Amino acid sequence: MVETQIIRRGVTDGRVIAAMRKIPRHLFTEEVLRHQAYNDHPLPIGERQTISQPYIVAFMTEALKLKGDEKVLELGTGSGYQAAILADIAFSVYTIERISILAKRAKQTLQSLDYYNVFIKIGDGSEGWPAEAPFDCIIVTAAAPRVPNALKEQLKDGGRLVIPVGDSHTQELIRVTRIGHGFKTEKLLMCRFVPLIGKNGFNNNDY
Ligand code: SAM
Repeated sequence: MVETQIIRRGVTDGRVIAAMRKIPRHLFTEEVLRHQAYNDHPLPIGERQTISQPYIVAFMTEALKLKGDEKVLELGTGSGYQAAILADIAFSVYTIERISILAKRAKQTLQSLDYYNVFIKIGDGSEGWPAEAPFDCIIVTAAAPRVPNALKEQLKDGGRLVIPVGDSHTQELIRVTRIGHGFKTEKLLMCRFVPLIGKNGFNNNDY
C-alpha cells in the first residue's frame, strides 16, 4: 500500500510514510472487510460513513506539515485511523465524531493500540473545540459547504487547516494558513468526502 499508492503518487514526508507503514489499518475496518483494508479506495465503516482512501489520508496528513510537537484537532473521527496516524506524528490529537457508536468503537481501537494522546468527543465538530483552542493544525475529514470561520479562528498564528469544500458530489481540498490576523488559502486537490453535518456544515435533511 505505502509503496504503490502513497510513495509512487508523490508523498515524500518521512514521518507520514513511517506512520502509514506502522499502523495496522485492518484493525480500523469492519471484520468482514479486513481483506480489503490495504486496497486503493475508501471502505464503509457502518452508519453510512467511510474510512478514507489510504492515499487521501497520507496526502492530507502531509499537507498539515507536522513536525512532532503539534496540538491537532480532527473533525470526523470515523474509524479512528486518521487520528492514529496524526497521534503517531504529533504531540496530541483532539477529535470529534457526531455518531456516538463510531466514536466509541474508535476509542476502543485506539486504546487497544496504546494511543493515549488522542482525546475523543461526541458532538457537532463543525464549531471546532473552543475550550481546547488554539490548535497548530486542524483537519476536517468530511466535506463542508464553506470554510467555517469558527475553525479559522481556532488556529494558532502559523497554524494550518486542511478541509474539503464543495457540494455533495465533489469538493476541493483547501489549506488555510493563519498569518497573524490574515489567512492564506491554497487549493490542493479535487476529492469526494461524506458530508460534514452540523451548524457550520450541511443540513442533515439534504442527504
Ligand atoms: N477520519 C475518519 C477515519 O479515519 O476513519 C474518516 C472520516 S469519515 C470520511 C467522516 C466522518 O465525519 C464520519 O464518521 C461522520 O459521522 C463524521 N462527521 C460528519 N459531520 C460531523 C460533525 N459535524 N462533527 C463531527 N463528525 C462529523
